[in-house]
Amino acid sequence: MSDTDSTSQSDTLRTPIVAVLGHVDHGKTSLLDKVRGSAVSDGEAGAITQHIGATAVPLETVSQMAGALVNPDDFDLPGLLFIDTPGHHSFSTLRSRGGALADIAILVVDVNDGFQPQTEEAIDILKRTGTPFIVAANKVDTTPGWNPQQGEPIQKSLEKQSKRAKSKLDESLYQLIGELSDKGFSSDFYWRVQNFQKNIGVVPVSALTGEGIPDLLGVLMGLSQRYMKDEMAIDVAGPGYGTVLEVKEERGFGATLDVVLYDGTIHAGDTIVVGGANEPIVTEVRALLQPRPNAEIRTEKRFDKVDEVRAAAGVKIAAPDLEGAMAGAPVRVVGDRDVDEVIREVEAELADIEVTTEEEGVVVKADTLGSLEAMANALQEAEVPILRAEVGDIAPRDVAVASTAREPEHKVILGFNVDVLSNAEDELDKNDVKLFEDDVIYQLIDEYEEFVDEMKRAQQETILDKIVRPCRFQILQDHTFRQSNPAVVGVEIMSGTIKNNMNVVKWEGNEPKRVGQLSGIQENGEDVSSARAGSRVSIAIDGPTVGRQIDEGDELWIELPEKHAKILEQELRDDIPVDELEALSGYLDKHRRRDPFWGK
Ligand code: GDP
Repeated sequence: MSDTDSTSQSDTLRTPIVAVLGHVDHGKTSLLDKVRGSAVSDGEAGAITQHIGATAVPLETVSQMAGALVNPDDFDLPGLLFIDTPGHHSFSTLRSRGGALADIAILVVDVNDGFQPQTEEAIDILKRTGTPFIVAANKVDTTPGWNPQQGEPIQKSLEKQSKRAKSKLDESLYQLIGELSDKGFSSDFYWRVQNFQKNIGVVPVSALTGEGIPDLLGVLMGLSQRYMKDEMAIDVAGPGYGTVLEVKEERGFGATLDVVLYDGTIHAGDTIVVGGANEPIVTEVRALLQPRPNAEIRTEKRFDKVDEVRAAAGVKIAAPDLEGAMAGAPVRVVGDRDVDEVIREVEAELADIEVTTEEEGVVVKADTLGSLEAMANALQEAEVPILRAEVGDIAPRDVAVASTAREPEHKVILGFNVDVLSNAEDELDKNDVKLFEDDVIYQLIDEYEEFVDEMKRAQQETILDKIVRPCRFQILQDHTFRQSNPAVVGVEIMSGTIKNNMNVVKWEGNEPKRVGQLSGIQENGEDVSSARAGSRVSIAIDGPTVGRQIDEGDELWIELPEKHAKILEQELRDDIPVDELEALSGYLDKHRRRDPFWGK
């Protein structure tokens, strides 16, 4: 097959898109800075290109940095495009055609700190999206006794380390490999990994000293070349496909879109379709903007206008009517296609992301489509129904919707990475709607679940308070203090809790006989309102006479209304102490000897 048969003239290989994920403070930002910084100092001027929201590192720079680790002749992918905003949040925001936008990810883990909540969350997201990743075991320079080797490949640096430092580092690295294994990933030091599709490569690095950065770039490059080359073949001249990273107001341009283009080309003047909050937006590109080099010092003109941008790249799009665009939404160049067809395409992609809502449930607000979807997935897993889910800040309208939930536990708003508009704040109190906010999904859901547990506990406590509790007790020999009006006797509580003012029964054969009502309890000479199993107390009973209806040695029970017995057995059995449960079963058994359906 000749080239022209299998690929069109404009087919070419694009840069793989790389995302950096990991727990806060594990070094994501430092690592990206180091990659950018070392590329600048190692390479020729202009060796790396700053895009909007992304940094491109060309193959030559990678190979210069990686030295022997990367021979440019072995590669035909043009380099790597790093997304500048690290974290799983932007990762889940950035999608393409329903999958992750990033082709490959670096999971940064602090070697001293190991797996942390956001590491776990990042791993779950990588697993769900099936994104290949490598682990950057960061901060190796903090190993006690470390002898820093600026910018060296890690093996070279390891040669210079003491035995003790090496074994200290190994210990941490093996722990990390163990933690990955707990998560279902088999992993090893990257130089031992044969098949990166089966095993996760662990690359020891330091974002501070640059040790291992050459390895990191080399592994990313090699992995992409080996396993992703087919996916990188795109029709460069075709219509551009991208994802909105952020909707931003820019002076002189109004609302603009920061977009990562992952396929095709976009030109100034192109008609585009963008996913909007209500419906797809159709508009015309007024300008394509790239950051101006050394923009920091010249704040006046921060951008350069360009005529076209080819995937993969980050670009700012200025166009009319972009106010309603959503972060995470698709952007499509119409090209010579029918605009309605493209609108349908965008709608279909948005529908894919849409979240299932129900008649009853909680209100969810998130900053982007991707995070909204991630929230919805997590809530579904936690079996929390959703009444409404939307992208955007928390507004009074959301409070109004939340207040319509039937169950008190659903009168809540879960906000992920969003602000609360000031006029919504007062509404929360007024409507008795509770707000939960966090920028870590699982923590947000944990907080909510704790609240629900606490609420249920409180509810059960109120029920338990209102319900008569079972108790079995026995009149002690020689402990009659008064025979009648009221009878006062010493008793031992065998099981359950005795409470004042309750009715007392005694079984005669299979028949429960009410003997009277409690009118006082004294423990160690003090009046008390109740007493627990194991204690000996004196009680006053209105009604009976000792020696007639009751006798020393008699076993007595607190009378349980049938309805209460039923609730206790069917709903609260997990909430009452074991001895009380025993009193309850004893009581039910006695009744059921006479009537098998009593309390059912
Ligand atoms: P992020 O929250 O994951 O983006 O983490 P940062 O990049 O902000 O790093 C958090 C802290 O760790 C900062 O104080 C960094 O200077 C420090 N740090 C990051 N990488 C390294 C490293 O390799 N070695 C050392 N010693 N410190 C590091």
